[in-house]
Amino acid sequence: VPDALNDLKQRLAEVYDLEKASAIAGWDQRTMMPPKGAGARSEVSATLSGIAHERFTSAEIGRLLDELAPLEAELDYDSDDASLIRVTRRDWDKARRVPSELAADWAREAGKAHVAWLEAREASDFSLFKPALQRVTDVSLRWAEYMEPGDSPYDAFLDEYEPGMKTAEVKAVFDVLRPELTAIVREAGEPADDSFLEGDFPVATQQEFLAGVLRDFGFEDGAYRLDPTVHPFATTFSRTDIRMTTRYKPTNLRALWAGMHEAGHGLTYQGTDAAVARSPLYGNASLGLGESQSRTWENLVGRSLPFWRGRLAELQRLFPQLEAVDLDTWYRGINRVAPGLIRVDADEVTYSLHIILRFELEQEIVAGTLALDDLPEAWNAKMSDLLGVDVPDDARGVLQDVHWTRASYGYFPTYALGNVLSVQIWRAVEEELPDLDAQLEAGEFGPLYESLRRRIYRHGRKFTPLETLERAIGATEIDPQPYLEYLRSKVAGLQPA
Ligand code: ZN
Repeated sequence: VPDALNDLKQRLAEVYDLEKASAIAGWDQRTMMPPKGAGARSEVSATLSGIAHERFTSAEIGRLLDELAPLEAELDYDSDDASLIRVTRRDWDKARRVPSELAADWAREAGKAHVAWLEAREASDFSLFKPALQRVTDVSLRWAEYMEPGDSPYDAFLDEYEPGMKTAEVKAVFDVLRPELTAIVREAGEPADDSFLEGDFPVATQQEFLAGVLRDFGFEDGAYRLDPTVHPFATTFSRTDIRMTTRYKPTNLRALWAGMHEAGHGLTYQGTDAAVARSPLYGNASLGLGESQSRTWENLVGRSLPFWRGRLAELQRLFPQLEAVDLDTWYRGINRVAPGLIRVDADEVTYSLHIILRFELEQEIVAGTLALDDLPEAWNAKMSDLLGVDVPDDARGVLQDVHWTRASYGYFPTYALGNVLSVQIWRAVEEELPDLDAQLEAGEFGPLYESLRRRIYRHGRKFTPLETLERAIGATEIDPQPYLEYLRSKVAGLQPA
């Protein structure tokens, strides 16, 4: 039996290497590659991921998993080996369910839909996107039929990003958030002034500041990079090779928070136990749990009063035009609450409402109760309902996000789950670290990182998101109340004195 386990580990390590080679090609494509490299690069990526998929879904892996079932039953559920066998079986079963022609159809239709979406968004005309969206949606619904039948047709989609989670569980959380968040937005009153975030901010100086922040957050020297890109992301090739990106503009400072967001993702990768590296267990338990940590470092740290009490003076030295901005004005500005049209520009309070809108529409699309012809109108009605905003055109409405070009239904809710989880977990950390505020002010992030590493990051993908949450803070379900309390008290504290 140990031979079978070693054999499995060796095969999985090779699959991991192939996937990481593909990821390196992808990172390079999005940060360094000259535009004319795109054609050849897509061949490289397709070849590498094709070989990785073929090796992973091989009958041999299935045979080894069968052979190892008795060992798995003997081992402690939480042990690395039992988890490796359990998670690999789950991934393998799912990967084997989908015929390769269907996966190819999906990739092809998604490619076409992406092109149609770019044109439609340029023309601000949903009707130019609709036929392609219909085709890629149809493929995704065919795909869903191969998955485990759930309680709701949406369950198969959600399971891709939140393993084991049910639509009904997410809906229960969002049903609490919906009325409460709309009420908080109303109470927020006049948006604060944040005009000082616009102006002349040389990129090299922004880079210098952000580099210092990341160092203090606890990244290991020589084990990460932060590079400029168009669409910020974070990826990892190993625990000691973490790649983060942000989008700098010389005319505003928003790259700082985008950078801290990606740093939060990066810290989860760095904090994973060495014992689960180079295996399917390396990574995050789910997108929502991963996002909870990017939001933690971006918002709970990077938009907090203690953090800036300790750091505003440094920023003012680098950008003297900020010397006139006092801490209160700064704090109110960077936490400005204002309903708007665009999700990616949304503040902490309104952000989840943008997600609830998409979650509700996606369920109807997947259930077939909303014809795509009626999608723009349904979108606009919900924007008015949830955020009190009138959508002037499709470009700033239903066409704003790239996600639906791949029919990635189930992806959006993970962003709002991340918001909710971030505060639920933060409460436990605060109890453990009574001096947390003073530490944030002093730029000492070690205790915070260590607490989160011990509670969450070290597990990687060993457990489902809810299993991880239980091990992290002892909770067995997602509780929206800490998040709502956090927002209420934050909004109250933002009112001008
Ligand atoms: Zn993120």
